[in-house]
Amino acid sequence: MTKCSIIAVVGLPNSGKSTLANLLVGVKISIISPKPQTTRTQIRGIITEGNIQLIFIDTSGILTGKLGPGQEKLQREMSRAAWGGMQSADLILLMIDAEKRSAESIELCKKIAREKIPAILVVNKIDKISPKILLPLVTELNAVHNFAATFMISATTGSGVDDLKKYLLENAKLSPWIYAEDEITDAPSRVIATEITREKIFLKFHQEVPYFSHVETEKWEEDEKRLTIHQTIVVGRESQKKIIVGRAGAGIKEIGMVARKEMEQFFDKKVNLFLFVKVGVGGVGQE
Ligand code: GDP
Ligand code: MG
Repeated sequence: MTKCSIIAVVGLPNSGKSTLANLLVGVKISIISPKPQTTRTQIRGIITEGNIQLIFIDTSGILTGKLGPGQEKLQREMSRAAWGGMQSADLILLMIDAEKRSAESIELCKKIAREKIPAILVVNKIDKISPKILLPLVTELNAVHNFAATFMISATTGSGVDDLKKYLLENAKLSPWIYAEDEITDAPSRVIATEITREKIFLKFHQEVPYFSHVETEKWEEDEKRLTIHQTIVVGRESQKKIIVGRAGAGIKEIGMVARKEMEQFFDKKVNLFLFVKVGVGGVGQE
């Protein structure tokens, strides 16, 4: 008898979604390798405990991020993909930054209220504010939507997180698992690093290089202080290589910078990232 729940994590940028995911999932993290044409990598953290599997979907694409001119279409696609991801969820976890009583949070609650999926409210960063502010905020948000449960947590200190996890495990529904156990115990950090770079290339070059082949993580060295990663971006044509490398290497430099930042956040460690671009079909061993 197995249980399984898909949980869509929704929240404004900086509310603490990644911090919570890293804390909950720990090293047992896995992702689904998306198809090359998908607009946004949905990194899903997975927890398996006993007979229960919890799958977390990243829905950050729901919110209008800041994109350059001419990228509205991409934004719309990302937003659609993210809402789509949400519709396949069994539960929505709405994360709110306790420090921010913003109109945007209320808007988000309203959006979620329109969905037919049960939702729980998670108010994060309680280490930074007084209970006097906290309770009115929780009351206000619960007035907008009838949340199935409310949790007040600190994703950095871990306060309240055990209760939240217990709730999620206890409320998982009877269902077959979606992932085999060995798929999630491998901790494929390399795959995550690969997907991060791939996403950055897609976001920057999807018009010029619509079908670039793939990214390979070739070297992975880790010590206490830092992670050194070498990756090769394999493209189909010399002209695509030129575009990605950019004038005086500016393109690849920018990709490297944003990818490194995200990796540092994800792995919670300093990252030295080295990117190479080559033309090849399968990519392995071809120059
Ligand atoms: P995301 O954009 O929603 O994924 O947010 P992040 O997880 O990246 O967190 C944004 C910032 O808030 C980071 O600097 C975190 O360290 C910080 N943060 C997250 N959770 C907490 C918390 O519970 N307390 C405090 N004080 N800071 C937090
Ligand atoms: Mg994040």
